[in-house]
Amino acid sequence: MTREFDFYVVPTPIGNISDITLRAIETLKNVDFIACEDTRTTQKLLNHYNIKTKCISYHKFNEKERIEFFLRELNSGKKIALVSDAGTPLICDPGEIIIEELTKNGFSVTSLPGACAVSTFLSHIPRKGDEYTFIGFMPRKEEQIKELAKKHLLNNLVFYESPERIMKTLKIISIIRPNAQIAIGRELSKLFEEVVYDSISSVLERFKEGIKGEIVCMIYAEDENPLMKDFEFKVKELKNKGFKDKEISTILSTLYNVNKNKIYQIALNTEL
Ligand code: SAM
Repeated sequence: MTREFDFYVVPTPIGNISDITLRAIETLKNVDFIACEDTRTTQKLLNHYNIKTKCISYHKFNEKERIEFFLRELNSGKKIALVSDAGTPLICDPGEIIIEELTKNGFSVTSLPGACAVSTFLSHIPRKGDEYTFIGFMPRKEEQIKELAKKHLLNNLVFYESPERIMKTLKIISIIRPNAQIAIGRELSKLFEEVVYDSISSVLERFKEGIKGEIVCMIYAEDENPLMKDFEFKVKELKNKGFKDKEISTILSTLYNVNKNKIYQIALNTEL
């Protein structure tokens, strides 16, 4: 038996139209209406599955004004489903504002498991351990990209990127992290799906003519041991400039997101 909710967050396929669950189809058939980013895009999916439920547009430009309408409908006992153009709503797609309002107003909300580019990617690539940081879309400014590449030196950094910008983004990252290992997932679940796992320089070479399609990327965490050698050098330089051990550990841990104590220990053991 399936429990009933007021509001359903429903994932839709990210490329292969068959990647939708039976429960998602059933939910989309049974709710009173479907809030969607682009009604034309969703209508194609609904036609494919013979779903007759009415669609209503809900996107980042009308999110706020739609809230009152949703609250009124829900108060009168209606059930609503939220979908985005592809994948899971709220994962780099609209929905945050409505979920916050519904939660505040005591409505019952559920989210159905389903297609999502980042989870599809992460369950496909070689990985050591469970830790990663997903930042959504990579920012566009060069300085911000460099900052993230430095900050996540010891973390697996996962992001979405457009095909127009990915090569530029990787070139910027390679300035800061020339030895980085990366994985790229392109057109996941589609006909030309491709997953590449290699050094950043090889990936730049491989795709020097450009890269097409939808992309998820991970910059792997650097191995800590060889890095610590580099920090010994940095610590020595800062000591030479007259910085105190505590100052050095604060500066380097802030800049490179490494353990402050480890840097402090290096500083203590470094003689000029
Ligand atoms: N809500 C979606 C999800 O659950 O993944 C993400 C929406 S976001 C606006 C769109 C971005 O997701 C694309 O620019 C791309 O970076 C990534 N993406 C979506 N589908 C993809 C696919 N089939 N393969 C690789 N990346 C994909």
